[in-house]
Amino acid sequence: MQKGQIRVQTENIFPIIKKFLYSDHEIFLRELVSNAIDATQKLKTLSSIGEAKGELNDLRIDVVLDVNAKTLSIIDKGIGMTAEEVDKYLNQLAFSGAEEFLNKYKDANIIGHFGLGFYSAFMVSSKVEVFTKSFREGAKGVYWSCDGSPEFELYEIDKEDRGTKIVLHINEESEEFVDAYRIRGILTKFCKFLPVPIYFSEENG
Ligand code: ADP
Ligand code: MG
Repeated sequence: MQKGQIRVQTENIFPIIKKFLYSDHEIFLRELVSNAIDATQKLKTLSSIGEAKGELNDLRIDVVLDVNAKTLSIIDKGIGMTAEEVDKYLNQLAFSGAEEFLNKYKDANIIGHFGLGFYSAFMVSSKVEVFTKSFREGAKGVYWSCDGSPEFELYEIDKEDRGTKIVLHINEESEEFVDAYRIRGILTKFCKFLPVPIYFSEENG
């Protein structure tokens, strides 16, 4: 078990992200589905050059809404992440002058281009959990969670299948997203013509 602080330049990036992107909160889903697609496409590429061993099986992305638990999960069967990769990609938000930058470019489209894509999850979540396992041989499952403060938790878990599951605990101000109709709407708007099939379903927790 590893505990530590996300390395941010500013005191706490999350209120800044929330504040400056208020007009377009729904982009979080596009960002997380894009990451799931990227991870799946990377796996296909690695497999085609013989770097990823074994069957790819049925490559798909699932978006699962649990109305009772107020969670939205994005599940892929892509390359996954090792603990080192989680630390490198999710904890190091070294973003100098984030506030100044976001002030200047309020256009949400720019966010994805600067590696803030994953963090858009915190616009709508009181807590984000990541369950992941890398495609690499002998990789261990990894759990990461963060409640929007710069503190995170990272530890090894048992995870059978390769890929990543992101669980968003939808915050009180964002209850509009605890709604199948709303989620379906965003998915049809943003997630057309994608190289990996996306399935939406509801579950009762
Ligand atoms: P970007 O996609 O622009 O690189 P993000 O903030 O969206 O920035 O994601 C940061 C990094 O975290 C990605 O580049 C990738 O390495 C990793 N990552 C995020 N989501 C996933 C996922 N579902 N599977 C594997 N890696 C992921
Ligand atoms: Mg991204």
